[in-house]
Amino acid sequence: MKKMATLLFVCLLALPVFSVCREGKEKKAPHVLFITGGHEYDENTFNQLLAKLPITYGHVKHPDAHAALKAERIAPYDVILLYDMPKEISEEAQGDFIAALENGKGLVALHHAFCSYDFWPEYVSIIGGRYHHYPWKENGVEKPPSTYKHGVTFDVKVVDKDHPITKGIEDFSITDETYGGAQLLPTVRPLLSTDEPTNLPLVCWTNQYRDARIATLTLGHDHLAWENPSFIKILSQAICWAAGL
Ligand SMILES: [Zn+2]
Repeated sequence: MKKMATLLFVCLLALPVFSVCREGKEKKAPHVLFITGGHEYDENTFNQLLAKLPITYGHVKHPDAHAALKAERIAPYDVILLYDMPKEISEEAQGDFIAALENGKGLVALHHAFCSYDFWPEYVSIIGGRYHHYPWKENGVEKPPSTYKHGVTFDVKVVDKDHPITKGIEDFSITDETYGGAQLLPTVRPLLSTDEPTNLPLVCWTNQYRDARIATLTLGHDHLAWENPSFIKILSQAICWAAGL
């Protein structure tokens, strides 16, 4: 009996958290442009995570990803999911990136996408902060480069239980890479926080940028995070919210 109960529990855990987003009584699967490149990750295991999300998606990698932001190519998509970490972006691609947001594409910046585009200040304004690979200045004060630490087990607290991204999420703990000494704009809406000293005070927030729906989730280094049920639910809900559902 105990074995059966354990088996049932394991089966329940293996089920997708959601199969679809909801808009009123309607069910919808947002179409996601998934962008990678510039940082390694375990692609096969990450694909298992993507299969659990309530989405359909197209996958594009750098250096081809910027061309996919062109209006005619991004038209079929609802949301851009960044899991990339490029350093450079041309002026043309910057324009396409911003135009996509202005034209109603939602944006979810996941984990190392927080560390992209060291030399594009507008990216900080878009996602509400950034990891700095070089010394940087905040209000005229010189700051050292940001730091990272792998395999840290830490507690995450839900700051805003009313937001669609954190709905139904309780405080949880996770083993993941932390980002410390990074920039966070005072304009962000905090959703998830942590007291972990090697991490910035937030792990998830939304940011106001030209009426676009933008969420950043700094969690998500490897399978230890990708298999965490709270992480899967937050990422699902972030994509649904960014899609306007
Ligand atoms: Zn990482």
